[in-house]
Amino acid sequence: MSEPASLAARIDALLPQTQCRRCGFEGCRPYAEAVAAGTAPINRCPPGGDATIAALSRMLGHPRLPLDPACGPEAPLAAARIDEPACIGCTLCIAACPVDAIIGAAKLMHTVLRDSCTGCELCLPVCPVDCIVMRPSDRAWTADDAMRARERYDKRNIRIASHSRRSRSAVPAGPTRDQRRAAVAAAFARARARRRGGNGSGG
Ligand code: SF4
Ligand code: SF4
Ligand code: SF4
Repeated sequence: MSEPASLAARIDALLPQTQCRRCGFEGCRPYAEAVAAGTAPINRCPPGGDATIAALSRMLGHPRLPLDPACGPEAPLAAARIDEPACIGCTLCIAACPVDAIIGAAKLMHTVLRDSCTGCELCLPVCPVDCIVMRPSDRAWTADDAMRARERYDKRNIRIASHSRRSRSAVPAGPTRDQRRAAVAAAFARARARRRGGNGSGG
C-alpha cells in the first residue's frame, strides 16, 4: 500500500498553485507546510478565495474565516503581456517568473506563454522599462491549470537547486586580476633571472 500523502501535500493539493506569494510565503507548498504545522491560518490565499478557505476548513476542521484583507482581494484570472517592441531583453522577468511562463534570450524581446501564465504578477516589479502589463483572462483557472503550474514550479525549483549545487561544487574561483598580474610579473622575473644566469655561465 502506498504511503498516505503528508498533510502538507494534501493541503497543497487544495491550493491554486499560482505561486503568487500573496500569502506571505515563497509559494503554495511553503504555505501548505505552514498551515500543516499550525503556524499559518487557512485564509491567506487570494487566488483560491472563499472556495479554497472552505475546502481547507472542511479538511482540517478549522473554522471558516473570511479572506485576510492584508493578502489582497480575490480577483479574476489575469495574464501578463509584454509590449514586445519596448522590451530590452534584460531577462529579469524570466528569472522572476515562478512557472517558466516567459521565453526569450538576452538582448532579444521576450514573450509570455499565455496558457502557462498564472497571473502572479511577480514579473511586473522587476521590469526596468515597465513593458509588462496584466490583461484580464477570458477564462477561469482550473484544476488542470493548477496541476500544470505545480509541475512547472517544481521543475524550475529542481533546476535552480541543481544549478546552485553545481556552482558550489565547481572548481574554486580562479585567481583575481591582481593575482594574475603578480603571477605574470613573477614569471617574467624568473625568466630574466634565468637569462642572466645563462649569460653569466656562458660568458
Ligand atoms: S496561490 Fe499564491 S497566495 Fe495562494 S497559496 Fe499559492 S502562493 Fe500563496
Ligand atoms: S509571466 Fe509574469 S504574471 Fe505570468 S506567471 Fe510569469 S511572473 Fe507570473
Ligand atoms: S524584464 Fe521587461 S525589459 Fe526585461 S526582458 Fe522582461 S519584459 Fe523585457
